Amino acid sequence: MSVLCEVQLKESEQINDHDGIGVDLGITEFAICSHNETFANVNKTVRVKKLEKRLKRQQRKLSRSYEQNKNQKRGEFCAKNRQKQILRVQKLHARLANIRQAYIQYVVSTLVKTKPAYITIEDLNVKGMMKNRYLSKAVAQQNFYAFKEWLMAKCKKHGIELRQADGWYPSSKLCSCCGHKKVKLSLSERTFTCDSCHTALDRDFNAALNLKYAKQYTVLM
Ligand SMILES: [Zn+2]
Repeated sequence: MSVLCEVQLKESEQINDHDGIGVDLGITEFAICSHNETFANVNKTVRVKKLEKRLKRQQRKLSRSYEQNKNQKRGEFCAKNRQKQILRVQKLHARLANIRQAYIQYVVSTLVKTKPAYITIEDLNVKGMMKNRYLSKAVAQQNFYAFKEWLMAKCKKHGIELRQADGWYPSSKLCSCCGHKKVKLSLSERTFTCDSCHTALDRDFNAALNLKYAKQYTVLM
C-alpha cells in the first residue's frame, strides 16, 4: 500500500534549503530581495534626518568659533567652549554611525534568519557609484562595504553560501522571466518591461531575481 499526500507549507517555511536569495542594493531603498522583501533606506527616516540637521548646525557653530579665534584672542574661555563644541559634534557623529551600523546588522540578521541555501549580491566595486559626485554622499551613507563584511561574517557562521555576481552581469537589463536582454534601460525607468514577453516588474525587484538566478558568480564565503 502506498499513500500519497500533499503538505501545505507555512509561509515562513516556504523558503527552503534549496532556495537562494538575490539582493539588489540601492539608494532609494537599501535592499530589495528576490523573495519580495524590501529594506528601506535608514538615512531617509525622520530620526536620522533630524540628527543630520543637528550635526550640520553644530559643525557650523564649531567652525565659526575657529574663525572668531583668528580675529580676537580671547584665550582660555574660547578654548574651553570649543572643546565642548568638539565633543558635541563627535557625539552626534557617533550616534549616526551607531544607527547605521545597527540597521545593517538588522538587515543581515533578517536575511540570514530565512535560512537560504545561498545569497547573491552584486559586485559593488564595478558600479563606480562613488565617482558620481551627485550620488557619492548617499552611497557613502549606505555603508555598503560594512554591509558586505557583516554579511560575510554571518554567512560563514550559519553555513550559507555567499555569492557575488560578476561585475559585467547585467542584472538590471535582463528579463527575469524569459532572459531577454534589453538594449537600453535608463535610470529613470522604474518599471522593467520586457520587449519579448511583456513582463512588467519593478526595476529593482527584477534585478534581485536576476541576481538570484545568476550563473556566473564568485563564491565569497
Ligand atoms: Zn521577458
